[in-house]
Amino acid sequence: MKSIISLISIGLSVLFGALFPSITFAADNAVLPPSITDGPYVFLNNGDENTAYWICQSELKQTSIEANTLIRPANCGDLPEPKLHTEAVIPDLDTFTHVGKIVALSDVHGQFDIMINLLQAHNVIDADHHWNFGDGHMVMTGDMFDRGHQVNEVLWFLYALDKEAQAAGGRLHLLMGNHEQMVFRGDLRYVNERYQVSLDLLSRSYASLYDKDTEIGRWLRSKNTIVKINNFLFMHGGISPEWVERKLDISSVNHLLRQHVDDTKEVLKNNELLNFLFFTNGPTWYRGYFEDALQGSDVDSILRYFNVDHVVVGHTSQDRVIGLYNNKIIAIDSSIKNGKSGELLLINSDKLTRGLYNGDQVQL
Ligand code: ZN
Repeated sequence: MKSIISLISIGLSVLFGALFPSITFAADNAVLPPSITDGPYVFLNNGDENTAYWICQSELKQTSIEANTLIRPANCGDLPEPKLHTEAVIPDLDTFTHVGKIVALSDVHGQFDIMINLLQAHNVIDADHHWNFGDGHMVMTGDMFDRGHQVNEVLWFLYALDKEAQAAGGRLHLLMGNHEQMVFRGDLRYVNERYQVSLDLLSRSYASLYDKDTEIGRWLRSKNTIVKINNFLFMHGGISPEWVERKLDISSVNHLLRQHVDDTKEVLKNNELLNFLFFTNGPTWYRGYFEDALQGSDVDSILRYFNVDHVVVGHTSQDRVIGLYNNKIIAIDSSIKNGKSGELLLINSDKLTRGLYNGDQVQL
C-alpha cells in the first residue's frame, strides 16, 4: 500500500513538474507567515473576466467583479481592492519635454512597504497612497517582480497610480526591467517562495499569473522600456556603446521589446538584433557604467547621440543614489530589495537631489 501511495505521489510530482517546470523559489528577509494572503488575480480568458481570485488565510476565494471594482472577501488582510481600467491598453508615449519635476526610483522587487514609505516621505503620494505629485512625472525604472514578498501589492498600487497621475496632469512611467522580462518568458528562479501557496491553490504556473490574458499582464505589456524626459534618459540597465554603433532609436526599440517580450530565450538568442536588445549589452541588462572598461568619451558619445545630459539607470545595486561621470550617469538602484531602506532621485529643472528614507533631501 505504502509503495502504491509513493508511486502515486511520484506520478503526481512528475505530472506537476511537467505542467509547471522547475521553480527554485527565492526567500527574502521576511519569515514566512503561518498563513498567506495574496492577490487579487484577474484572468481574461475562459469567460473568467468578471471573477477575481484571492488567497485569504491560505484558502482560495473568488468574488465577482461589479462595475469594474474588486471587493476583497472577509479575512483577507489588507489586500488591494483595485478599480479596473476599462479603456484599451495603448502604449505610452516615450518622449516628453517641459516637465517641471521628476521623481525616480528603481528595483522595488516586491518591497511594497519600503516603496510606500519612500513615496510618502517625499510627498509623491498621500497618506492613503493616492497621487500627490500634481503634474510631475514619476519614473519606475523596472524590476518590480521577484525576490520580495509583496509583488502583487506593488503592481496593483502602480496600476491605480498610473491612472491617478494622468488624471492630475502628471505621468507614471513604468519601465520594464530584466526581471519583468524573465517572469514573462517563464524564467522563475527569483520568485519568492511564499507564492507557491497561491500556485498550488490556483493550479497555475507563476508566469501564467501575469501572462497577456491577465489584467496586470496586459497592462504591463503596454509599457515602455526607455523614456526620454527633458534632458534625461531613463531605463533599467543602460545604453551601451553598441546601441550607438547600431544607430537604434528609442521608439522602435520600445516597440520591438513589447512585441517580443513573450518570445522564448531560444527565439531571442537566434535573432541578432533581439539577442542584443534582450541580453548583456541591451537596455535592461547593461552594467558597463560600473566597469572600468568604459571611458568618459564613450559616455559623452551616448549623451550626444540622444541629445541628453544625463542617463538614469537601476539594475546595478548601490547603497544609495549615486552620480558617476560628473552626474552624467545616475545610478538609482539603492538596494530597496534588501527590505530595510532605499532612496529616490528628485529632479527639479537641473537640480538633482537624493530623497532619503527618513524624508531628508541631500544634493547629489
Ligand atoms: Zn535588474
